[in-house]
Amino acid sequence: MGQRRIAIAGYGNLGRGVAAAVGQNADMTLHAVFTRRDPSTIDPPTPQTPVLPWDELLDHRDEVDVLVLCGGSKDDLPQQGPELAAHFTTVDSFDTHARIPEYVAAVDAAARAGGNTSIVAVGWDPGMFSLNRLLGEALLPEGGTYTFWGPGLSQGHSDALRRVPGVAAGVQYTVPSPAAIDAVRSGSRPELTTREKHTRECYVVLEDGADAAEVERAVVTMPHYFADYDTTVTVISAEELAREHADMPHGGFVIRSGTTGGGHDQVVEYRLQLGSNPEFTASVLVAYARAAARLNERGETGALTVLDVAPSLLSPKPVDQLRAELL
Ligand code: NAP
Repeated sequence: MGQRRIAIAGYGNLGRGVAAAVGQNADMTLHAVFTRRDPSTIDPPTPQTPVLPWDELLDHRDEVDVLVLCGGSKDDLPQQGPELAAHFTTVDSFDTHARIPEYVAAVDAAARAGGNTSIVAVGWDPGMFSLNRLLGEALLPEGGTYTFWGPGLSQGHSDALRRVPGVAAGVQYTVPSPAAIDAVRSGSRPELTTREKHTRECYVVLEDGADAAEVERAVVTMPHYFADYDTTVTVISAEELAREHADMPHGGFVIRSGTTGGGHDQVVEYRLQLGSNPEFTASVLVAYARAAARLNERGETGALTVLDVAPSLLSPKPVDQLRAELL
């Protein structure tokens, strides 16, 4: 098997993370980075990697095995996902949970028509957390599943925040409630509302002349992102944003608390503690890019999610070796 050729569409935090992750996988090479911006304004990940204009993407169809889509979920991927799945085998990290079914349907139609394979909504949530929710439910059918995020900076929510009119820059932190976590870990299986589990803290830099009260109203009422939470909006300076809010840590855990047939309580926990959310998400995307390439080679086309992909397809090791080493 030759090296799999990976290209990146969109070069923000996630795009940079994908370039770094490809460098850790000996069976992959980075073909190029594509951007909607002027390529000459962008530092390439390595001196050998070309940064090319978006409108040249289709010229590279035969030189790219998997295109990793690194656009934002709110405005970029709903358009780019289906459009590019018609021409490339793709992976992406679409994370607007409520819209995943319609997104899967749109990408599926395009990918099937083009004979391509797309694994969508890959990352840690949706992604690794989704898999662990599935395992918890399947293994402990009587019980409750709890997902807590943070404390950490949410890229998807920060992206949505920055697109609010009047916001020049900003970040959003998701903070889990300590009381809610303790109650779940005790095995008591509390009924918790969305609002009781987390709060959302936004720090924004306003555009010149923007009305702070109007920005706050637009943020706290935004459906899917902020409307169901106690959300605070704090206006800060560009200097404070750069000084205090440059890192992107995140994490969280999925807990399944259940009772097996003999009456014993069982608590299962999957935890992530991430120094860099985009670098980890990118590493997950790259492992699923390998799976997408293999599925496409087998003739399996259309859109899939992490729930549909066999774990052995993620590993560079042959399946016999995996059985010998890991079972
Ligand atoms: P980002 O840095 O804002 O980049 C998004 C896009 O914006 C890039 O593809 C890039 O496209 C453009 N861009 C980047 N920097 C820019 C700049 N300085 N000026 C103008 N445009 C710029 O977003 P991100 O942090 O990479 O995150 C992307 C998405 O990943 C998020 O929206 C989120 O939904 C998703 N995500 C998912 C998970 C998960 O667990 N599933 C976890 C983390 C993130 P061009 O190069 O074409 O301009």
